[in-house]
Amino acid sequence: MGATNINRTVLNICGCCNLKCANCLAFIPYYKEKFIMTYEEAKELLAAYFEVVDSVEHFTVTGGEPLLNRNTAKILEEVNLYRNQIRGSIDFVTNGTILINDEILDFFERNKDHTKIVLSHYGDELSVKIDEIEKQLKERNITYRISKFYGDDMYFDGWIDFSDHSLKWDTIEKRDENSRKCIHSAGKYFVINEGCLHRCSRSYWRMKNGIIPFTKGEYVDLLDPTTSLEEKRADLMIMMNSVSSTSCAYCVGLVNGAPRVKPAIQLGE
Ligand code: SF4
Ligand code: SF4
Repeated sequence: MGATNINRTVLNICGCCNLKCANCLAFIPYYKEKFIMTYEEAKELLAAYFEVVDSVEHFTVTGGEPLLNRNTAKILEEVNLYRNQIRGSIDFVTNGTILINDEILDFFERNKDHTKIVLSHYGDELSVKIDEIEKQLKERNITYRISKFYGDDMYFDGWIDFSDHSLKWDTIEKRDENSRKCIHSAGKYFVINEGCLHRCSRSYWRMKNGIIPFTKGEYVDLLDPTTSLEEKRADLMIMMNSVSSTSCAYCVGLVNGAPRVKPAIQLGE
């Protein structure tokens, strides 16, 4: 069997957030059961992930809002133990509402050659700590970038509304065609949610909520003791090599031409 070298994986360590963005790409405000990953859970999950995945270019730790998780520094340290399997960087995405604690800053300062912080900036009314966070990072010379999601020149021109889960593409050919244009799909990005490796958070959400079935070869349950390592790697290979999955049929896709909505509109506004 071939090597499982993938481009990006996003680990969700906090299924809750202090913002309630109506069009949250990961549907966090709509989670019925909130969760905060423990260090022990992260350790077990990362060990399982790095057995199934030979290498990943970028490994991102986020949520929800990851700074709501008190175990974040320890989880980042644990991710860093797999440095030899992370070809590029360990990234960390936060929403600019909470100052970064010293333990986490220490981690990024010590590992600045292969780590990067991404600050999602939703404007001064929502990302209320962004200036202070920038100051924290500059003082320690820690690499970061800002994804600007307000006003002009928005990152990626704004957000896409993924809340309509009706069937969009009724043949494999049409679904493949759209999926080829999807940045998530074409880029072979993956997410880890609730112990499972998914193609994207839309796919995870649709399976979890019964919109589409859990289909073998469209997700990998990393912690499933009844599935062998070889079988998990084989399922990942199927995911890596497929142009689209069932979820893509119900999806506008993360595509350049799709209509944009204003980012970070808060539920109840
Ligand atoms: S800040 Fe908004 S988009 Fe980001 S995780 Fe929270 S609810 Fe979702
Ligand atoms: S088309 Fe939709 S479901 Fe398919 S990979 Fe892209 S975002 Fe995910």
